[in-house]
Amino acid sequence: CMSSVARFCNDPSRYLLGCPVMNAPDIRHGVLYVVATPIGNLQDLSPRAMQVLRDVAVIAAEDTRHSKKLLTHFGIGTALLSLHEHNERDVTGSVLKKLSAGMDIALVSDAGTPLISDPGFHLVRAARQAGVRVVPVPGPAALVAALSVAGLPTDRFCFEGFLSSKQSARRQRLQALADHRATLVFYESSHRILASVADMADIFGGDREATLARELTKTFETVLSDSLASLLVQLQADSQQQKGEFVVMVHGATPQATAVVDAASEHVLTVLLAELPLKQAAALASKITGLSKNVLYERGLQLKG
Ligand code: SAM
Repeated sequence: CMSSVARFCNDPSRYLLGCPVMNAPDIRHGVLYVVATPIGNLQDLSPRAMQVLRDVAVIAAEDTRHSKKLLTHFGIGTALLSLHEHNERDVTGSVLKKLSAGMDIALVSDAGTPLISDPGFHLVRAARQAGVRVVPVPGPAALVAALSVAGLPTDRFCFEGFLSSKQSARRQRLQALADHRATLVFYESSHRILASVADMADIFGGDREATLARELTKTFETVLSDSLASLLVQLQADSQQQKGEFVVMVHGATPQATAVVDAASEHVLTVLLAELPLKQAAALASKITGLSKNVLYERGLQLKG
């Protein structure tokens, strides 16, 4: 007899002595709750998250030992099952079975919001495809906490998660992002923070403004804003600043149109602008001159205005 079925079905005729009648026509699916947990400070667990973690039949956790500590701290005794990067595809089937038997399940990761650089994507996708209700219980996410204090533009941002541990792939990705206008947001660990910031300074330019948010909500929380070159020097000078968990945020590219469009290219752009709309003129001028389309578009805006 599924206690969670009994608890949530509100049609008493379906039950015999508190148990679902055999062959009940439409046994309700359980709900999959995707629950955010703290990124450091345990007081950031929301009252609703606590209630859900208490009420569900099972909690699927990235690292059961890690989550057990959180649950014990709040006196929550709910059973745990392991769902991590390496077993997620295998475990998804059995979690779906539990959901279709009417059990409510919560998904948590080690810290912050599941699926944000954490496991859960396959389960959530499969649950939705199976018609299961998936309910968010929002709360901490390192990228949002970091952006909220960075003092960088947040109207547009591009979350890139972790860069590759291989330098060539990392540099290639950074190169592809070099002209991006939105604020760039990366997750980084203590092992690679120095190498990543060094590559960013090299590829985006040492003058580019950035913010390093380290150990947010924890004892050694530090938020440093400066140019990439200066941040690199600060990291190199103090090994303490290389420890812990990081969110690295980099100001988006701001094309210095006047400085980089030479006279010949500007002439091409001006001629094309007389015949074509700005977007097309910039695209064509880019093909002719080899300069960036974005830079030419910006210069075109200036010429028109
Ligand atoms: N799901 C999490 C979230 O919602 O932010 C992220 C999990 S990801 C595996 C872990 C990474 O998030 C760390 O390497 C670090 O880049 C970032 N992170 C997590 N907690 C952090 C904190 N307290 N301060 C700064 N960055 C943090």
